[in-house]
Amino acid sequence: MKTAEIFAIGDELLIGRTLETNAHRLAQGLYARGMRLRQVRVIPDEAPAIRRCLEECTADLAITTGGLGATRDDCTRQTLAQWLGVTLVQHPEALARMQTYYARRNRPLNPISEQMSFVPQGAEVLLSDVGAAPGLRIDRPAGGVLFVLPGVPWEVDHLAERYLWPWLEAHGTGGHVEQRVLRTVGAPESKLAALLAPLEDRLPPDLKLAYNPSLSSLDLRLVLHTAREDWPLRQPQYEALWAELQERVGPYIYGTGDDRLEGVLGDQLATRGLRIALAESCTGGALAARLVSVAGASAWVAGGVVAYSNELKMELLDVPQELLREHGAVSEPVARAMAEGVRQRLGADLGLSTTGIAGPDGGTPTKPVGTVWMACAGAEGTMARHHLFERDRSRNIERSVVAALDLLRLYLTGVRPE
Ligand code: ATP
Repeated sequence: MKTAEIFAIGDELLIGRTLETNAHRLAQGLYARGMRLRQVRVIPDEAPAIRRCLEECTADLAITTGGLGATRDDCTRQTLAQWLGVTLVQHPEALARMQTYYARRNRPLNPISEQMSFVPQGAEVLLSDVGAAPGLRIDRPAGGVLFVLPGVPWEVDHLAERYLWPWLEAHGTGGHVEQRVLRTVGAPESKLAALLAPLEDRLPPDLKLAYNPSLSSLDLRLVLHTAREDWPLRQPQYEALWAELQERVGPYIYGTGDDRLEGVLGDQLATRGLRIALAESCTGGALAARLVSVAGASAWVAGGVVAYSNELKMELLDVPQELLREHGAVSEPVARAMAEGVRQRLGADLGLSTTGIAGPDGGTPTKPVGTVWMACAGAEGTMARHHLFERDRSRNIERSVVAALDLLRLYLTGVRPE
């Protein structure tokens, strides 16, 4: 399997001003193509540091990002030329591109900016449609190839799409990576681990099952890293494990790949011609915001009410005063009444509510911070759920939103009200 190393060049990366993201995205692209990334180094805009990396690199592919600009602090091109023992020569097409680039922005191309059209003799020039500085492809004297990319993240992505990935595909990486993602919600890691233990016991060493939890999803990633020629032989085994994985965690799956829970729910609501209304207390509108972040949400979202006070819960959602007095605002009966009330008042097919103590204060011994009730009301009845989250306010709000979406998912998938 072929190897790669990335050198992210830039003083700003080392003083904590800019978060390094180029290597992060390039690593994903390399991994997906079966390259083994051996190391990422973040180095300053200094010739000796750049030179040391180039001299020490033994990987098949070296990639640098940054330092291609024309200002004095950018020294990647000059360092490369010295390292290769060649001069910098002006590249006519790079110059023409730069003239067009600057003219379109009504900016003069001064001699300093023009420096960017000078490249080490013999280098292949990678022309950019989105930035001034071209990238470079260089055959390294001791073997292997070097891709020299600018620092600006979208310029890196553009040149990678246009030159780096096609080059890798044409020259072969020797490896094949098969990775599929199953997105789940509603079950903690330990529960999924218990369901998947029999499958994990049988996994061959080069087939990995990774758990990637976040506040909004627990992703299961099935990854096989193998030699390219071995993939056809391994594929039936991979497909069987992928099918078994889905079978074992079935009730918790909401999608695959990049699917978003709110997007999947939106599709389901739209397909059935259902519209939903939100009654929010502790989530303060975050639930509505999440649902309307999906394009086309007007087809399935009727609207919402943020009723934080008891008065508004009564006034806008018809929550009976006795329920509030008897059980308190954070309770199952009130969550149910809110969901039913908003459904009725807004003339929607479904009502979804949240009421809880987001924290960090306001808890009681019987209702500690993090206590949240939520309910989903529809033609087939009302379903309520209780959660006990932690003390962090913003995390509690986010987790309440996800839990409410999961409740809606269960309601739509036919889990009947208890
Ligand atoms: P320019 O022509 O704009 O000078 P350049 O190739 O010289 O481009 P830099 O000057 O190093 O690139 O960086 C340009 C911008 O891209 C800066 O805002 C910098 O913070 C950002 N940048 C550089 N390297 C990285 C990186 N590895 N990850 C994320 N952002 C980066």
